[in-house]
Amino acid sequence: MHVNEDFLLDLLMENGVLNQESYEEVLATSHEHGLSVGATCEKLEIMSAADVLVLLAAEYDLESVNLAHYKIPKELVKLVPNDVAHRYQIVPIGSDEESLTIAMADPTDVQVFDALSHLLEKDVQGVVATSDDISEALNKYYNEDLTFVDDDDDEPEIIGFSEIIQDESDVDETPIVQLVSLIIVKAYQAKASDIHIEPLEDKLRLRYRIDGILHEIEDPPKYLQNNITSRLKIMARIDITEKRLPQDGRISMRLKDVDLDLRVSSIPTTYGESLVMRILDKSNIKLGIPELGMFADDQQIIERIITYPDGIFLVTGPTGSGKTTSLYAFLNTLNLPDRKIITAEDPIEYDLQGINQCQVNVTKGMTFVKILRSMLRQAPNIIMVGEIRDLETASIAIQASLTGHMVFSTLHTNDATSAIARLTDIGVQPFLIASALKAVMAQRLCRRICDACKQPYQPTELELEYLEMSRNKEPGHILLVEDDPATQKLIKKILFRNDFKVKTAKNGIEALEVLAKDDERKIDIVITDLQMPEMDGHDLTKAINEQYHHIPVVIMSGADQEELDKMTQLEIKGCLLKPINSLHLLNTLQRIYSKVLKRRLDESSSGQNDILKWSKGCGCQVCGNSGYKGRLGIYEIFHINPEIQEMIFKQESTASLRHRARGMGMRTLRDDGVRKATSGLTTIEEVIRMTVDNEVEKFN
Ligand SMILES: [Zn+2]
Repeated sequence: MHVNEDFLLDLLMENGVLNQESYEEVLATSHEHGLSVGATCEKLEIMSAADVLVLLAAEYDLESVNLAHYKIPKELVKLVPNDVAHRYQIVPIGSDEESLTIAMADPTDVQVFDALSHLLEKDVQGVVATSDDISEALNKYYNEDLTFVDDDDDEPEIIGFSEIIQDESDVDETPIVQLVSLIIVKAYQAKASDIHIEPLEDKLRLRYRIDGILHEIEDPPKYLQNNITSRLKIMARIDITEKRLPQDGRISMRLKDVDLDLRVSSIPTTYGESLVMRILDKSNIKLGIPELGMFADDQQIIERIITYPDGIFLVTGPTGSGKTTSLYAFLNTLNLPDRKIITAEDPIEYDLQGINQCQVNVTKGMTFVKILRSMLRQAPNIIMVGEIRDLETASIAIQASLTGHMVFSTLHTNDATSAIARLTDIGVQPFLIASALKAVMAQRLCRRICDACKQPYQPTELELEYLEMSRNKEPGHILLVEDDPATQKLIKKILFRNDFKVKTAKNGIEALEVLAKDDERKIDIVITDLQMPEMDGHDLTKAINEQYHHIPVVIMSGADQEELDKMTQLEIKGCLLKPINSLHLLNTLQRIYSKVLKRRLDESSSGQNDILKWSKGCGCQVCGNSGYKGRLGIYEIFHINPEIQEMIFKQESTASLRHRARGMGMRTLRDDGVRKATSGLTTIEEVIRMTVDNEVEKFN
């Protein structure tokens, strides 16, 4: 049976053609031989298929036709799109200015009338035919392949929309179908991630999002607005008559050798329905971790973390930051025969081979929570939950991670360290976070410089300023030389709280030893007491001035006249009077440290141009003059080590978690972006765009 013919069986019962016994016989025989109800009745010599049809026609007061007598012209075939004909099991048999006649096997399926009359803006009339005739006609006139592009052309020819729609009188012919296909084909060819069709007061705006940026495309004619949205709604299998409520649907289509999936959402707006279609290119999913564009150090960290036997790994970032892609890459990497992986997703964006994917469907009661619960009974090793939105989901995820599962999920936070506060906000106990969470990765997608038009580039003052600002986020390294343990402890505490890294020494000799070991020239500033045993601050400063003239020295002094006199012979950058005032200390250090950074920047941008490979795309045909082609992830990986665990347990603030993580070497999104920009992969402009407002300015 090609259509559900239950209605026909019922009809035959009601008319006394079948009794309970023969009803069951017909049902069983039709199933067994794959025959239609009409053919089965004929086979069982109950009634001829033609008479069954006559009965059906009479019941619904419709004409019946024998499709074998019809030759359906090509124009008529083109009028009803392939997918519509197959889905509703109908064949067009006649058309004039105002109406279209279709042959159908199931006259109870009235949806097709709505769908077609919206699409074609014609009255649609039905006649009945046997389901076998319909199937045969579909095979004859519509091939099975649900391709929306013209099959004759190997490469779909891209012409302007205006060339398809030449004048308004054409509306009632096939161009709508062709136009809508073209909108999708063009988007795919431009590597767009989504298509936006927005009715405005005076036009129908069409935009493609390419590499994260919306580009306005030639508008389809405003007067075709309803035809276009109707066609798309039919393709997406959403209720075409509902125009006041938001709806979601999905279009699956084949484009040459590519399977395309489009997730469609429609929402009512003032000037009509606005449609957004997200393009999911299934050929893209052979994605592994190397394709994520991580630098080797980050990749190593990630590869280590994802193979932990249990725990939670969260990926954070706003919508469109590539979180799902990363999760899929992790799962692809982990997808080995000895592992069982289950996912709960909303929606399933790609099909992953060998992975059990479950679609969340809240209206049918398939919530994240419900799927997670049943998942755990399936004894998986690895679980992926699309998103943690509420306490219930979080609790089950944590429970799973604490009972020997590795759990991957996403959260909506801007940076990695804020994930802790977010989890606490939704009600997760800090001790559970501390024990379950293994790592959080924040990410963004920056546009990649187009290789075809990449040029060396000298950044602007503003960009350099930004770069300096971002380096300013690197903790300054201070060598604190002080013999009095209480003073040392106090200053160390102030410095630590204010983002500095501190090394200490008790006297000048020890201080010189520390400096001698500082091969990477990490120490930015030396703060020294003046009076100390063994080697005092005066001699130490003299030694530093000679051997390490790039390191500024700040002296702390009790400020008697003799000491101050002695200091005038030294090169010092600051003098702090004891007892130390913390504000004065920080102001002095901040002033000196920004000079250190400025000097470093000058060195790197003048003397060492070969280290920094600034580039920019100047725009070419390949990149549509944007200078960018494709995208590149930037990452911030927050690894939960025992010290961070302790801090989470003690409910320390996001700021201090962030500070400590940075102290332990975490690169922020901005750091990773800047290093990718200085390697010529993206631009500072792009990094600024993606990370603006993301970092809390703090240096006081
Ligand atoms: Zn280019």
